[in-house]
Amino acid sequence: MDHTSQASAAALSRPLTGRDELTLDPGSPWAALDMVARLAPGMDVQALDVTTADRLVAQLYGQLYGDVCDCRTRCVVCGEAFGFELSLRTLIEMQDRERPRPDFADGSWSWTDGRRVRAPRIADLTLTPEALLERLVISGGACDAAVLAFLERAAPILTLDLAARCPHCGTDQEVRFDLARYLIQRLAGERPFLLREVHLIAARYGWSFAEILDLSRDDRRALAGLIAAEPALASRRAAS
Ligand SMILES: [Zn+2]
Repeated sequence: MDHTSQASAAALSRPLTGRDELTLDPGSPWAALDMVARLAPGMDVQALDVTTADRLVAQLYGQLYGDVCDCRTRCVVCGEAFGFELSLRTLIEMQDRERPRPDFADGSWSWTDGRRVRAPRIADLTLTPEALLERLVISGGACDAAVLAFLERAAPILTLDLAARCPHCGTDQEVRFDLARYLIQRLAGERPFLLREVHLIAARYGWSFAEILDLSRDDRRALAGLIAAEPALASRRAAS
């Protein structure tokens, strides 16, 4: 299985619900992966390589918000805030163009010097740095800086330094983008809307909290939008 079919074989199998949103712990470094694991029951997330897992986070972002990330940062020179937009599709295409195809069915690569290396898996990320490095070279030698540089290209994730120019003072600088963090912060920022939507639906239909939390996020938001529009509709009818 090459990297393209590996990534496309992994997919989220159900939409996000309010129950998922309520379990979100924005302080946890594993929050995005926990969300992926909830939405892909039966998939062994711990066994996924980091790229495949990260692309599932991108898939979730795409389902919720589309392709574009609106990032905000602060200039390292003048201190002014500025924003920039990123297209996840463009970033992923750029990374995929740079990725060498694996040489073995398990997704690992063979080097001309005889070393056989593989991408880190999610389960590896809790190891000590030394133990992690040992795992990355399956045979033929030790892990070194060259292997790590190769793996950065061969097993990319959407946590990366991007070139940006401050619109206030014109300074070029590197800005850190971390998709998993960005997604979780954006979702966590919407918690007040979740409670308001639950309130509107419960007050209008008399459904229980549990029933409303089991609605998909899209259905919940659509129903809450209809309910919120009712007073305006009613007053328009009364006026005509
Ligand atoms: Zn600046």
